[in-house]
Amino acid sequence: MSKRLAGTLIQKTSPVEREKSQSLSTSEMEKVLDILDTSYDIHPMGELTSGQPYRVLVACVLSLRTQDTVSIPASKRLFMLADTPEAIIKLEAEQIERTIFPTGFYKNKSRDILIFTKQILDDFGGQVPNTMEELLTLKGVGRKTANLVLGLGFHLPAICVDIHVHRICNRLGYLITKDPEATEMALRDKLPAPYWLIINRAMVLHGQQTCRPIGPKCDICPVKSYCRQVDVKPRVPKKA
Ligand code: SF4
Repeated sequence: MSKRLAGTLIQKTSPVEREKSQSLSTSEMEKVLDILDTSYDIHPMGELTSGQPYRVLVACVLSLRTQDTVSIPASKRLFMLADTPEAIIKLEAEQIERTIFPTGFYKNKSRDILIFTKQILDDFGGQVPNTMEELLTLKGVGRKTANLVLGLGFHLPAICVDIHVHRICNRLGYLITKDPEATEMALRDKLPAPYWLIINRAMVLHGQQTCRPIGPKCDICPVKSYCRQVDVKPRVPKKA
């Protein structure tokens, strides 16, 4: 082979092209989300709150820095007492604290629930607002909670990025981002809108049960054939 021909062949895959071939394409990401969306049961948060913005708001605040196994039963107990702004505002802070215990930061969460409920009654006529800007004015509500209210509560296009969505998008090789907020912005640019509402419910249970922060179960992962396993140390499965 002539030197010139050899040079041409070597130049065929530039570093940029190599990086592209190593990253997950959007069409592959769509297939991954379709597979994950049918691989797990419905998340209990969806069952408890779908289409009910005030319930989404309260349940999401209770879930912050708390395991689902604690926050979901706490949400159910609270909703048996009251699940509208008009009913919650009549409760004493101590009564809410007792009901949601042992949710993490239960005193702060009880206080926040009463404060944002009063805001909803005073500033929004008792209706949970349906814009990001207005939701962010509520006490204790950040982008993650606001996106969940928009998506799960109002079924509006919103991308709720928590730590699972952030971690899995990077491990798959779809994004290179440093934190959940950067992941949300990158997904808004790359991912087609019909998948915005799916991605959270598809990835949260996958992140809790399979693509765990430490020792992901790549050996039984339903999307392993697509995953680029960026910076991943899979668990070593036990021999049968
Ligand atoms: S193959 Fe491993 S790293 Fe990739 S999504 Fe599955 S569990 Fe996560």
